[in-house]
Amino acid sequence: LAEFRLIKQLSQRFGRTGHRVLCGIGDDAALIRPSKGQDLMVTTDLLAEGVHFRASTATLADLGYKAAVANLSDIAAMGGMPDYMLVTMAIPTGFRTSMITNLYRGLMAAGRPHGVRLIGGDTSASADGLFLSLTMIGHVRSGRALTRSGARPGDGIFVTGTLGDSLAGLRLLEDSPPAARLSRAFRAFLIGRHRRPSARIKTGRALSSHGLASSAIDISDGLSGDLAHICEQSAVGAEIDLRNLPFSPACRAFAAASRLDAADLALEGGEDYELLFTVPPSARARIDRLVRNAECRCTCIGIIRPPSFGLRMRNSEGRLRRLPLTSYQHFNKGLPPAGGPSCSR
Ligand code: ADP
Ligand code: MG
Repeated sequence: LAEFRLIKQLSQRFGRTGHRVLCGIGDDAALIRPSKGQDLMVTTDLLAEGVHFRASTATLADLGYKAAVANLSDIAAMGGMPDYMLVTMAIPTGFRTSMITNLYRGLMAAGRPHGVRLIGGDTSASADGLFLSLTMIGHVRSGRALTRSGARPGDGIFVTGTLGDSLAGLRLLEDSPPAARLSRAFRAFLIGRHRRPSARIKTGRALSSHGLASSAIDISDGLSGDLAHICEQSAVGAEIDLRNLPFSPACRAFAAASRLDAADLALEGGEDYELLFTVPPSARARIDRLVRNAECRCTCIGIIRPPSFGLRMRNSEGRLRRLPLTSYQHFNKGLPPAGGPSCSR
């Protein structure tokens, strides 16, 4: 797995570029000719073995796929179109070229349908576990990007697709008891949603190009935390109705078999990669048209409130309660203790 030969192979197999790329893999930096009238979008995302994934619950192709979706989803949440990606890896000993090729197959399987080109990266050995970091570059018409900061009281709160599937899929992979009571089709659906989620590029783009959303975010850490981000950055409160949350039949069946509340799976479950967006009253009629033609369902789950309202939810009995912040956070028990590997400079 000599570095130079590996990069050459990856470049030959996966590095084909389009006409706007003046220089792709092979020089010191990629060179891209930007288009007029567009704002550039740049995002990056890191997956660390043992933190974001375990070798036991995903193949390398799945891992590549998911890494690409995490970045695509960030572009989608800002209403952009993805164009290029750079892939940085730290590879532990014992990896063969074919394993890296599988990882890139997954990366490209997620990126290719959206026209994403591989234009570079960096490669290193790792002393402990696989690290995979992607950087994705996209574009949006100047001034049209969706941000987290534009929600206003009275706006409707919408989500795409269904929530909780990815966490249900992960639980199925981690322990089997409830799995025994689920149909094979439901099991395959939930595990598929965990391993190969969808990035809602088409919906994000429709929202930005028609100016329909006042704010947007992708649900990568769980509904409760990602809604809290919108509220904080827009300086507003929010009320959601748990009875309106969209669930797949498979997720409902999993929740029933595991004696869990599907709403909890949605509130805390990261990695659904659905979009959460807010719609001003003036755009409500037009959003209904979008929903009819969308790539997936879009469901209204609540309303933006003034900041003093805070974050609340109507529970299954219709009672108004404080929204618990159960979504995933790194370092929520403090930073790791000192004494590990340290930087000597
Ligand atoms: P440098 O020493 O300047 O970092 P490298 O030898 O790391 O150069 O990289 C050479 C070329 O290969 C660059 O164009 C870089 O973007 C690309 N590259 C390196 N690693 C990867 C990778 N894992 N995937 C895709 N391209 C890569
Ligand atoms: Mg390098």
